[in-house]
Amino acid sequence: MISKKDGNLYIDGVKVTDITEKYGTPCYIMSEDTIRQNCRKYKAAADKYYDGRALPLYASKAFSCVDVYRTVASEGFGADVVSGGELYTALKAGFDPKKIYFHGNAKTEEEIKFALENGVGRIVADNTEELVTIDRIAKELNVTADISFRIKPGVEAHTHNFVKTGQIDSKFGFALENGEAFAAVKTASEKKNLNIAGFHCHIGSQIFDTEPFIHAAKIMVGFIAKVKKELSVNVGELNLGGGFGIKYVDGDNPKPYDEYMAEISDAVKSECASLGIDVPFILVEPGRSIVAEAGITAYRVMSVKTIENVRTYVAIDGGMTDNPRYALYGSKYAACIANKAELPCDFKATVAGRCCESGDLIGENMMIQAPQAGDVLVVFATGAYNYSMASNYNRVPRPPVIMITDGVPRVAVKRETYEDIIKNDMI
Ligand SMILES: *Cc1c(COP(=O)(O)O)cnc(C)c1O
Repeated sequence: MISKKDGNLYIDGVKVTDITEKYGTPCYIMSEDTIRQNCRKYKAAADKYYDGRALPLYASKAFSCVDVYRTVASEGFGADVVSGGELYTALKAGFDPKKIYFHGNAKTEEEIKFALENGVGRIVADNTEELVTIDRIAKELNVTADISFRIKPGVEAHTHNFVKTGQIDSKFGFALENGEAFAAVKTASEKKNLNIAGFHCHIGSQIFDTEPFIHAAKIMVGFIAKVKKELSVNVGELNLGGGFGIKYVDGDNPKPYDEYMAEISDAVKSECASLGIDVPFILVEPGRSIVAEAGITAYRVMSVKTIENVRTYVAIDGGMTDNPRYALYGSKYAACIANKAELPCDFKATVAGRCCESGDLIGENMMIQAPQAGDVLVVFATGAYNYSMASNYNRVPRPPVIMITDGVPRVAVKRETYEDIIKNDMI
């Protein structure tokens, strides 16, 4: 929880500048408490609206490290992983492999073997070549692979609206409209070492409306009914993906998760009733909405460069290497000077990173307190897709992750050193 007192910014009751003095800048600071509260909201809604026949999975690409896997596992979550690296991290954290769902549109044979050897709960198949590969490797290992299918339901979600498309243009999964998904299910049903456990869809990210989710859910239920009728294949599980929006800046107004789940579960249940099928076991995959608002990034202000009648650049000791989202998508963030937290935000800044790229910005037209070199600048809601997207461009070491548990900060991920930077270089 973010608060202000005596001119300073606090997170979970800890003064941000106390953390930066002890651990240095830049650093990611995460609230374990907020992560847990977010998990509990999903868990409670899953239990309430599906009578316990639902499980939230943490879409771990949002923030993957041993510590966070442990936290979400202890809240009863499963995990969605998309690579051998995420799977390895989840297993190292002691995650129950049965609760791991392995996604990805280009899994390698090594990754599939690694997943099957470790008994992951589901492999979410993306394409026909992969079905063949999973079946072959499962046969070699003398196991049956429980698979789900990544389906493109033909619903394209944008923030605040959605459009139905005849044929969706996406690299992920099997299309419904052209019969691709149906043919894939038929192919899989004929393979000895595959067990068709479920269907999956994920329509996008940072979505505020419920309509696209409802629309997708109905289409998916319809597909379950179709394969039951025409192929006699009973699909017991429906994964509705993630994508629930969070508040980055004023004007972002996500609904409480309970409301999403109430509306979507109504649609699922009524569609099942009208098609005469049982309500499947439901999975949801929140990523961003579990961790984004739990995290902030603290930087040191290095310089303030005012170009008359143009703009003012506020340079910080981090940037696109720890948060590439403005460079990638123009994502908006709110910021604040932690040691001037109670002064008015009347200074318009372009917050610039330290990399040799003019596009290395955290944001433009950001309203903050008048800054000066040495101040600590905090960017809010950086818990998702920041650390997990960080790079070593310009050989900048990745910042540490400081996790606050019950008001006590601790290092969850160490700051990278120059030694780490060259550890794979042949010297
Ligand atoms: C990214 C992703 C999610 C999570 O999306 P958020 O917007 O972070 O909630 C869930 N499922 C799949 C398959 C994804 O690729």
